[in-house]
Amino acid sequence: MIFAANFKMNHTRASTKAYLDALNQKLASKRSEDRVFIFPPSTALDHYDGDFTIGAQNAYPEKNGAFTGEIGLDQLDEFGIKTILIGHSERRDILGEDQALIAQKFSYFKSKGFEIIYCIGEALEVREEGEDTVMVHLLSQFKGIDLAYEKLIIAYEPIWAIGTGRSAKVEEIASTHSTLKKHFDRPLLYGGSVKPANIKEITAIEGVDGVLVGSASLEVESFTEMIFC
Ligand code: PGA
Repeated sequence: MIFAANFKMNHTRASTKAYLDALNQKLASKRSEDRVFIFPPSTALDHYDGDFTIGAQNAYPEKNGAFTGEIGLDQLDEFGIKTILIGHSERRDILGEDQALIAQKFSYFKSKGFEIIYCIGEALEVREEGEDTVMVHLLSQFKGIDLAYEKLIIAYEPIWAIGTGRSAKVEEIASTHSTLKKHFDRPLLYGGSVKPANIKEITAIEGVDGVLVGSASLEVESFTEMIFC
């Protein structure tokens, strides 16, 4: 299983360091086949020795340059970061990233050999139209994305389930994952209100290869409880 923690705009450099120290100790007894990813805010990116992978929540698809407020390849290289989250719904909806920019980020970081966790998801209005409409929407988010990339992990995160406490139902996850999996042969994570109370039922669903966790990953105890469930 893959367990990925997306801190979003939470935690400082100091609290991330404390979190990772605690995580490292707890992961000493982790199952060797499990993988753990941590996506801290960019101010807390650093080299860490541990049985987990640190990734960037976002970066601009250039080495460096006149891109105010952004970080690029040079800044990630300094800390040996080779993993990135692309396409998160908060970047699409709040920061206004369109599919063209997202695909540009994907191609750039793929060309640099990054491991990419690529997020897709639908809004509630789309879900209410039924599974067929959901699939049309989700497949449109694969435009410009190389689904055969060997360092790609995909995360299905229904927007209406993110940060709402309301996870998708087991049947919804099972059916969306099984249809999505017909389109690629890469690991597929579920994200959206994953927490210790529902981790067992979600990771037991066929076609779920792991989880991308926001709120419930912010406390190291809660995140590790899920890893060891
Ligand atoms: P959540 O966030 O676990 O707080 O719902 C998930 C995500 O946005 O990746």
